[in-house]
Amino acid sequence: MAALKGRVALVTGGSRGIGRAIAISLAEAGAAVAVNYLSKSAEAQAVVEAIHGQGGRAVSVGADVSQAAAVKGMVAGVERELGPVDILINNAGIAINRPVDELTEDDFDRTMAVNLKSVFLCTQAVLPGMRKRRWGRIVNISSGAARGAGGVGPHYNTSKAGMEGMTRGYAARLVKDGITVNAVAPSLIQTDMVGAVASSASRIPLGRFGKPEECSLIVMMLIENEYMTGQTVALSGGLSFL
Ligand code: NAP
Repeated sequence: MAALKGRVALVTGGSRGIGRAIAISLAEAGAAVAVNYLSKSAEAQAVVEAIHGQGGRAVSVGADVSQAAAVKGMVAGVERELGPVDILINNAGIAINRPVDELTEDDFDRTMAVNLKSVFLCTQAVLPGMRKRRWGRIVNISSGAARGAGGVGPHYNTSKAGMEGMTRGYAARLVKDGITVNAVAPSLIQTDMVGAVASSASRIPLGRFGKPEECSLIVMMLIENEYMTGQTVALSGGLSFL
């Protein structure tokens, strides 16, 4: 399990849910992991301690990834503590769940800033170092809502569709630099977010919610595979096919 030994990974929104599972999988594969969070520092610290408990290297780093200055500070801090970032997982996201007639401009702007602009800010911040080392892996956590109806609302659909466009745009421009950029599009993974959006798994053909660990398995597959870039892998218990 030492495939990523010597690599440094940054997982945005690594304190809970899907990001937490990805952080732990990366550490199990040998990477040193920076666990980003917005406000839940104790949860992020618990992920760091779980990684330390398995003999891995990890730090927690608080930053609002929708803010350019915070992202700059976060990446500088990670570089100081662990080294330059080789693997970026753009996972942090929000799902403002409101009936369409009650959605506000602020809901739209906040969703775009956290779910989409953050991907641009974090990617731009780590790119120069990846280019210099001629190796990098970027995985964006999209959603079935990028292409399907989704259960949150059009603001959320838009943010995730934009993320998939950004995935292809970066992939095309970075492939010659040894950097791959892919996305995973989960639907209804058992996390705090899904608890607030869907009360039952009855819509899912498999008959249950997905597990965060099932999502991290796909992320690890994408990180291993140099020949795959610009792609989105759906993970939905049969709910949608891309
Ligand atoms: P979650 O349990 O609600 O966790 C969200 C994570 O994002 C937390 O770590 C949170 O930090 C962090 N975060 C939120 N806003 C942030 C900000 N501005 N800056 C930094 N971190 C921020 O969500 P999840 O279900 O694991 O979802 C993770 C990703 O998967 C999201 O992008 C989501 O859209 C996507 N997704 C999830 C599902 C699903 O079924 N669960 C389906 C499709 C896509 P704190 O802990 O500090 O609050």
